[in-house]
Amino acid sequence: MSFKVVSCQNQTVKLFQNAITNKRLAHAYIFTGQEGIGKVLFSKELAKAIFCQHPGRDACDTCYHCQRIENNAFSDLLFILPEKNSRIIKIEQLKYLQEFLNVRPLESKQKMVIIQSADKMNEEASNCLLKTLEEPPLYAIIILIVTSLDAVKDTIRSRCQIVRFSPLTFDSIKEILIHRFHVDCNQAEQIASLSNGSMERAALLCDTHVLEKRNWLIDRLLRLECDDNLTFSKELLNEWHIQDLEVLEEKRVLVKELLLSFLLYYRDLLVCKSGGYELYYRDWKDALVLKSNSLSDDVLFRIVPVIKTSFEYLDHNANITLLIENMVTKILHLQRGVFSV
Ligand SMILES: [Zn+2]
Repeated sequence: MSFKVVSCQNQTVKLFQNAITNKRLAHAYIFTGQEGIGKVLFSKELAKAIFCQHPGRDACDTCYHCQRIENNAFSDLLFILPEKNSRIIKIEQLKYLQEFLNVRPLESKQKMVIIQSADKMNEEASNCLLKTLEEPPLYAIIILIVTSLDAVKDTIRSRCQIVRFSPLTFDSIKEILIHRFHVDCNQAEQIASLSNGSMERAALLCDTHVLEKRNWLIDRLLRLECDDNLTFSKELLNEWHIQDLEVLEEKRVLVKELLLSFLLYYRDLLVCKSGGYELYYRDWKDALVLKSNSLSDDVLFRIVPVIKTSFEYLDHNANITLLIENMVTKILHLQRGVFSV
């Protein structure tokens, strides 16, 4: 597919094209930016451009190397990511990385390692990586992909060149939805405006059930009574079919979407209160304005961190049912004006 497939990252593409042409690639990079904006996609296309048998500013996408990279079967390229159903990258995986880099390249002049979710390395794994970064073999290129630099140790960060990725524009998400996902123009516009610059989110929203679930949630939140507590949690779990998913990682993706829908709802109420019009849930504008009048700034500012903490718990393997029940209880308490929870 080559760099042409990478949307909205023109500066980054240029930066690497120049580095490849001038043979000035660094040994280690950190790619940072929100989820679903093409960091992994870009790193794979970068690998092709580096290893392509027809060297140039971009990969040919047809040679033996490009094809094998596309199929994740190129021996000088290693992908590392948290194992299924695990949220962390383990020391064993980093030891394997060291062994991989200790052996000289087999098919080319360089060896490349791409660590996805590198912010999910535990302490031991981070230390192991640090050793590699202190003295990388001359032929090594290591790419760490993270959503936030905060989770990367300073000692690691200082040894890497940092590359920031931008969210995708409304137009490019709309284009991709129409041409690659075959979504009609109206729906593509609706999803693009809800996707917050993330193609991953847009793809999730293409599944109409997610849109339906989200619409149900906003409608329900607007009608929410303070004594709905446990019934609301149960309804949530049922309506969002959270228990139906067996693979933990799929469950997490869905719960993340649920939490984000919550967060944006309360964010919209705050926007309404300050007289702003840039609403995320534009279709509900009148109802949101009305609802915002019934809740104080103080309550809303206390609810937002409750949802943010739930995101963190989700990342730390919390029990999902309990997490949702706790969050709903706290939100309803706050809406009722009880602050000591
Ligand atoms: Zn090629």
